[in-house]
Amino acid sequence: MITIKSAREIQLMKEACKVAFLAHKAIEESIQPGMTTYEIDKIAEETIRKNGGIPAEKGYPSGMQGVPNYPASTCVSINDEVIHGIPSKTRVIKDGDIVSVDLVALKNGYNGDMARTYLVGNVSPEAKRLVEVTKQAFFEGMKYAIKGNRIGDISHAIGEYVKSQGYSVVREFQGHGIGKEMHEDPGIPNYGKAGRGPRLEPGMTLAVEPMVIEGKPDIWELEDGWTITTQDGSLAAHYENTILITEKEPKILTIL
Ligand code: MG
Repeated sequence: MITIKSAREIQLMKEACKVAFLAHKAIEESIQPGMTTYEIDKIAEETIRKNGGIPAEKGYPSGMQGVPNYPASTCVSINDEVIHGIPSKTRVIKDGDIVSVDLVALKNGYNGDMARTYLVGNVSPEAKRLVEVTKQAFFEGMKYAIKGNRIGDISHAIGEYVKSQGYSVVREFQGHGIGKEMHEDPGIPNYGKAGRGPRLEPGMTLAVEPMVIEGKPDIWELEDGWTITTQDGSLAAHYENTILITEKEPKILTIL
């Protein structure tokens, strides 16, 4: 079921999204070679808690037998890791790495979801371009995040743009509705046919999140049951915002 948020709920969504934004701002200002992914996680957790939020990814159920609930406040995925990298005290960020950080702030019962891929130190032009295309893919999707359009219009715009740039989108994971739950209906694939899927209505809040691979789209899941990597070892990037469908342009709630 797709939930339409009331004016009061939209206000609460904005507050949760602001906390997610502040956590990313703190990471952006401090990320550098030599840091561990655990340190990134702590910066995010402290910023979220200091601003009255809870890091919602911590304890999130895996849904798979034998795989523990998610142990950290963020997902930190480096280079060929696509998503769901588990922060670790032994994982050191190196000069030239691209580092995807995905986090969800829960505040007053509502969730704000946001991901960025950070360029650390001297990043290759190829990696930089991948990160830029991933961000632009989100904004290509936004051109269609308009009342009366369909979810498939967003998906199609993202997928076609990524393809036109010579990259692949991840097919096994997708964007999603968001609100009281981190993951609500509808699912928002990063590829698909225009004109399909649920119609967009004012008051819908959606997490739109292109996940883009430099090479082939195939992925592996590592033995930890969480980390997703590219099969061909090529780089991956992620860009996500929580947005609100309005009477006119979409409002991006995780950019302040
Ligand atoms: Mg996310």
